[in-house]
Amino acid sequence: MSTRLLDHVRLQLKEIQESGLYKSERIIDSPQSVEITLEDGRKVLNFCANNYLGLASHPRVIEAAHRALDRWGYGMASVRFICGTQGIHKKLEKTIAEFLHCEDAILYAACFDANGGIFEPFFGPEDVIISDALNHASLIDGIRLTKARRLVYAHADMTDLEAKLQEAQSARFRAIVTDGVFSMDGDYAPLDQIVALARKYDATVIVDDSHATGFVGATGRGTPEKFGVLGQVDLITGTLGKALGGAMGGFIAGPAPLIDFLRQRSRPYLFSNSLSPIIAGTAAEIFSWLSETTELRDRLEENTRYFRQELTRAGFDIKPGDHPIVPIMLYDAVVAHRFAEALLQEGIYVIGFSYPVVPKGQARIRVQLSAAHTREHIDKAIAAFQKVGLSLGILRNIPA
Ligand SMILES: *Cc1c(COP(=O)(O)O)cnc(C)c1O
Repeated sequence: MSTRLLDHVRLQLKEIQESGLYKSERIIDSPQSVEITLEDGRKVLNFCANNYLGLASHPRVIEAAHRALDRWGYGMASVRFICGTQGIHKKLEKTIAEFLHCEDAILYAACFDANGGIFEPFFGPEDVIISDALNHASLIDGIRLTKARRLVYAHADMTDLEAKLQEAQSARFRAIVTDGVFSMDGDYAPLDQIVALARKYDATVIVDDSHATGFVGATGRGTPEKFGVLGQVDLITGTLGKALGGAMGGFIAGPAPLIDFLRQRSRPYLFSNSLSPIIAGTAAEIFSWLSETTELRDRLEENTRYFRQELTRAGFDIKPGDHPIVPIMLYDAVVAHRFAEALLQEGIYVIGFSYPVVPKGQARIRVQLSAAHTREHIDKAIAAFQKVGLSLGILRNIPA
């Protein structure tokens, strides 16, 4: 191989390492769960997975997956329109659409692909896509694949969004694109206001609800439910890789003609393999389970409330809110990473986030609660946070 590229890449790797931004992967020697075993045999409590409902290795989910495997096989070895569609794929699409109060839904290999395939079929040079400044990388990439003009509004700033809508009034189509929940802060897009502005300026609303579907809102329908606009968001994208079992897979739900058009034109759908029948079958069962009972999302809500309350009481600086993403602000990148290391020594697995994942001076530990955490798990985490907080001089007051 030509050494020019190799040398170039080696140099870049060295720079990443020297700036402290190199990501290495910690190896887990157990199924994904709230209690995991690390490669060195240590058992730790996991507080950093997107396993919001605790379904990633739930016995009922594993059983459903076994049944799907036996009934439908392992893989499809085809894209959907050649010979890659089983009844279970259609059933899952119908289930997702009903769950989200939409007409139809379409499956993708991942939400990254859904977001990569949602814009280009609909929008061209005559159109404007208006995007929240903190939108997920996959939405940004999806928008880049169109020739539409892109306008970015300040994060969740409705005044700025309205200004951008006015700026886009002469366009053929206008679309407003936002995450439902923003993963670094656990804050929400104000969808009630966004939908109202969309109606006023004749815009299409596209929401990526990856950190919400299944548990946000009174019955887990996601951010639209929380903001009272269920059935009023035009297109919803989401992942099966977080709360909904955590395997992989993505979807788009919306009006039947738009979904039908995506089946004709969306490139990651047309040119990528069908979702494994194991996932399709299991996810369908998960959705019907979540339609029967709110038990899991209720437990997650209570776990979140308790953790946020107790950590605030202990004197930590937490971004306010009610989402199971809990950012514990430490501001200093070195402190955040040291804090996470010390917590691991205490048996609590979390990750420190710093620039460029969050803005400079905004370093933090991001905790994610799960319905599978017990009160005992959470109490253990709180005690560890207090111990490390005191030893690193983060906590000024010793709690009563
Ligand atoms: C995780 C995430 C994705 C990617 O989902 P995958 O199914 O893992 O590709 C897309 N958008 C948002 C907002 C996410 O949080």
